[in-house]
Amino acid sequence: LVSRSAKPDSTVVRVKDVDIGGGSFVMMAGPCAVESYEQMLEAARAVKKSGAKVLRGGAYKPRSSPYSFQGLEEEGLKILNAVGQETGMVTITEIVSSSHIEKVSQYADILQVGSRNMQNFELLKEIGKSNMPVLLKRGLSSTIEEWLNAAEYIMKEGNPNVIFCERGIRTFETYTRNTLDLNAVAAVKNLSHLPVIVDPSHGTGRRDLIAPLSRAAVAVGADGLIIEVHPHPDMALSDGAQSLTPEEFDKVAKEVNKILLAL
Ligand code: PEP
Ligand code: MN
Repeated sequence: LVSRSAKPDSTVVRVKDVDIGGGSFVMMAGPCAVESYEQMLEAARAVKKSGAKVLRGGAYKPRSSPYSFQGLEEEGLKILNAVGQETGMVTITEIVSSSHIEKVSQYADILQVGSRNMQNFELLKEIGKSNMPVLLKRGLSSTIEEWLNAAEYIMKEGNPNVIFCERGIRTFETYTRNTLDLNAVAAVKNLSHLPVIVDPSHGTGRRDLIAPLSRAAVAVGADGLIIEVHPHPDMALSDGAQSLTPEEFDKVAKEVNKILLAL
């Protein structure tokens, strides 16, 4: 179902008035985690002005350490929803348990399956039974084949609204948090009809590398970008080191648009 041989024309996942895939390029942006109404509103207004159509913000944060900030949970969902409505943006947030599907779908427009859950097959199957758009992040150490199969789990249950997201994989390199695999973006665009989004924030883990890798993602044929932006990165409760300021994001968005025009 995922394969391009099964469906030669590219799939467009339509979320409200936003088309993802099929030739239009979408910018998704916002903080790693929802921290407060004020933080989300400030971030949302800024990224919208720069052209982002989709607002991100995690309410359930699967952190490496149980002592790190775990997210505002349902309170965070409510804030994301309120700011989405206030700004007229489509919203995306991570879902970590199949028992949350109803609740999260009530507050957000796109479900994000995080890297750590890419092979949580029970979660994938339950999401497959809903009709919610889903951004499927590539697992930390997953092969392209495993990633395609994860999408197949969702589609097999009847949900066609799957979007891939390359967010870097674990390699021997430690200078960057992960290694953004742009090979995989080009390969999956060939292998599947589904849209592919690139996350240079988790793919590099470094603010100074977001702009160049964003440019590369456009050139390699990605259908969009998802970038972490925080009004005050130094004060971020998670992923501050890879978060752009709104001004830095605006610059990236302008560069991306220039490349899109040239393609
Ligand atoms: C995130 O988007 O903040 C996140 C936790 O991403 P990943 O699952 O790719 O690590
Ligand atoms: Mn993050």
